[in-house]
Amino acid sequence: MMDLLHIILLFSSFIFGIMANFFRFLVNDKWNKIILIALTLVIVKIHSIALDFSSVSWTFFIVIFITAYSFQLKGAVISALISWLIVSAYIGMVPLLLASYLIFAFFIGSVCQFYYNKKKEQQRWLSTLMKQSKQLDVFREISLAMQQTLQLDKLLQIILISVTAGHGLGFNRAMIFLKSPEKNQLNGIMGIGPMNANEGFNTWERLAKSNLKLLDLIKLNYDKDTIDPELNALLKSISIDLKNETILEKSIQEGIPYNIEKIDQADPSQKLFLDLFQMQAFAVIPLLNQGNQIGVLIIDNIVNNQPITEDDIDSVIPLANQAAIAIEHANLYKQIENMALKDGLTGLLNHRSFESYSKNLFASATTTKKTLSMIIFDIDSFKHFNDTNGHLLGNEVLIQLALIIQQSLRGNDLAFRFGGEEFIVLLPNTSEEKAVIVGERIRYNIEKAIFPNEEKQPKGTLTVSVGVASTEKYEFKQVSSFIEAADSALYKAKNQGRNKVVLYKEEASHE
Ligand code: GH3
Ligand code: MG
Ligand code: MG
Repeated sequence: MMDLLHIILLFSSFIFGIMANFFRFLVNDKWNKIILIALTLVIVKIHSIALDFSSVSWTFFIVIFITAYSFQLKGAVISALISWLIVSAYIGMVPLLLASYLIFAFFIGSVCQFYYNKKKEQQRWLSTLMKQSKQLDVFREISLAMQQTLQLDKLLQIILISVTAGHGLGFNRAMIFLKSPEKNQLNGIMGIGPMNANEGFNTWERLAKSNLKLLDLIKLNYDKDTIDPELNALLKSISIDLKNETILEKSIQEGIPYNIEKIDQADPSQKLFLDLFQMQAFAVIPLLNQGNQIGVLIIDNIVNNQPITEDDIDSVIPLANQAAIAIEHANLYKQIENMALKDGLTGLLNHRSFESYSKNLFASATTTKKTLSMIIFDIDSFKHFNDTNGHLLGNEVLIQLALIIQQSLRGNDLAFRFGGEEFIVLLPNTSEEKAVIVGERIRYNIEKAIFPNEEKQPKGTLTVSVGVASTEKYEFKQVSSFIEAADSALYKAKNQGRNKVVLYKEEASHE
């Protein structure tokens, strides 16, 4: 008969069981299994106290069953032996139960092992399939996003976000290096990721909370100056000489990705990555387009320290190939745009650009009632310069002069090569008075600058005449009359002896 103590004991073991089972599901899988086994042992112990021990030894089969479920064959055999030890310690002799424990353990352990392996195999297939489908998804989204832009900055951002976002390929950090135009250096261009592991954890938490999808991230229109500013500032200062033997050069020359599992300090590029970015291991993927060496993509897992696998690299390669094509397209587009909008000799905006800018700025100044000012420059006696020194040196002067104009301007001002030796500056939101000051500053800077053979000019120095016009005090009906006003002021400056700044006044146009 059970007395009150035994009833209390069984009741409390029941309560304890419920509580322990509750906690089991709050911890990770391994601890869950350990708690389960400990719990079973406690029940066995309580039974052994509450009931006669010899009638309890069968409960060890439950322990063996649970360990077999948790740790398969090995766990079952170990618990069979331990159970046997406990039983023999209690009854003071070697029981024959051992054989039945072991047979049971082998049988149940093998069954569990079989199902465990089968489940694992299924899971492996499932996760491979999921991973591949996710990669395909990512690849499709990225291709789409890439097709929508020809801006290099935006493009590089898309590539880097795709490589690093959790919804993308999920690497902790990625950086892009592109070959310099002279093809002798790899320059750090853009990166995404933390400077070190700690910083990485914070970013992760932030991103996990925002729960953005890959395309949302791309669409978010990241401000390129605010993404990981420290990393990018550092990255932009890096130029890796292609004359040195580095793994980056090897990868780009051979067109093969390399997985660096441990930094080799003898390689200057690897040492640099270790010193600047605390990189312990990384992979380098070449960016190639039909044999054209564009640059490299560097990836690493600075935060979770996960080794990069062959599969990982395989997943990046299609993206890298796509990226290389897109980068080259963006570069070509930029070149063509430059050719169409900029002057080939001086690099200033050309006459075609002037036509569209002047029209737009004039229209918006008229509607917003803000002042637009214009300065026009013409080199004094430039025909004389050409005749004396030749056309080629004349061109050198044009280049140097364009540079002086460019350097004398503020952020919003636009400089154009209007014609052969005539230049125009458009100054949005700038008063007449201020425009005259800017014109005078440029005139002065040109007078003071030293040009080749300028002493042979009629006045012993190379100068410009300057006309200024502004919408502040006059209402021009059309942009063409605005330009004519500036031109007439320039004409007046020439007539007044050159090397002068003249502001357009109504009567000037009647002269
Ligand atoms: P000023 O303006 O003082 O009246 O005299 P100028 O001799 O400069 O006269 P003008 O402005 O009419 O001269 C234009 C000269 O500029 C003609 C040509 O020799 C030169 N020129 C125009 N385009 C170029 C160019 O692209 N390169 C060179 N070297 N010279 C140019
Ligand atoms: Mg001229
Ligand atoms: Mg001239």
